[in-house]
Amino acid sequence: MSTIFTQIIEGEIPARIVYEDGTTVAFLDANPLAPGHTLVVPRDEFERLDDVPADVATDLYETIHRMVPAVEDAVDADATTVAFNNGEAAGQEVPHVHCHIVPRFEGDGGGPIHAIAGDRPDLADDELDDIAADIESRA
Ligand code: AMP
Repeated sequence: MSTIFTQIIEGEIPARIVYEDGTTVAFLDANPLAPGHTLVVPRDEFERLDDVPADVATDLYETIHRMVPAVEDAVDADATTVAFNNGEAAGQEVPHVHCHIVPRFEGDGGGPIHAIAGDRPDLADDELDDIAADIESRA
């Protein structure tokens, strides 16, 4: 069963496609958080960011880089929040990697990306050191 985004890419269901190339497609979100809310996806289905091959990741970023100013200019936004929900626990509903480009406006009542946090951890210095070392060893 293909994802809803694959169905859009294959023209099986309608969407407002605003850009496409050989590896990526951008279209308006059907339930926009702001006018111009756009999704950028790889044509091929990858569930999470780390499933995306490096060459496709490069193309994906290039399309995001292209679309951010296009979206901002089109709706006269002051800024954009650009984000991925990467995995179900992070709120990802469609298992097909997608970048949200959400136009932001002065006084729009929204929050920064920091607003996603629930209970913030209170981490001691040695715990931070351990976490940093662990991440560094895997990077
Ligand atoms: P996420 O929670 O990060 O998986 O976001 C999925 C996004 O896909 C939501 O913002 C939905 O509004 C959007 N969406 C779902 N179905 C469609 C569709 N048919 N066309 C465009 N956007 C869609």
